[in-house]
Amino acid sequence: MNTHRQQIRFFRERIPAFECQPGCHDCCGPVTTSSEEMSRLPRVSAAAHEAALAALTCPHLGPQGCTVYAERPLICRLFGTTPRMPCPVGKRPALMIDERVEAQIHRFMAETRQVLV
Ligand code: SF4
Ligand code: SF4
Repeated sequence: MNTHRQQIRFFRERIPAFECQPGCHDCCGPVTTSSEEMSRLPRVSAAAHEAALAALTCPHLGPQGCTVYAERPLICRLFGTTPRMPCPVGKRPALMIDERVEAQIHRFMAETRQVLV
């Protein structure tokens, strides 16, 4: 099995889930991700990409929020689960992410080629 795929599954299982403020998408913006995660996202036209980037937003952000929620990148999942990336409206899981897992995720992101979502 693809090592990156295994690592991504490992991380996804260890990033704590929490309820966001309904309708909020304040932490969405231009994000980067690994090629493996990118391959699971629907393709977006170059024009839509450019428009999103110009507006400093994400091309997968729709009127009802993230349109690719089940496959959203690790960085989106990490947001709000660590004091280093706090949710601006104060939402958080009961237990923040294990610092060792957080460090592993950052290492994974540093070691994999990142592409703009
Ligand atoms: S983590 Fe916070 S800022 Fe981001 S969508 Fe959820 S409630 Fe909004
Ligand atoms: S992939 Fe989803 S959660 Fe991540 S920035 Fe885009 S819209 Fe927001």
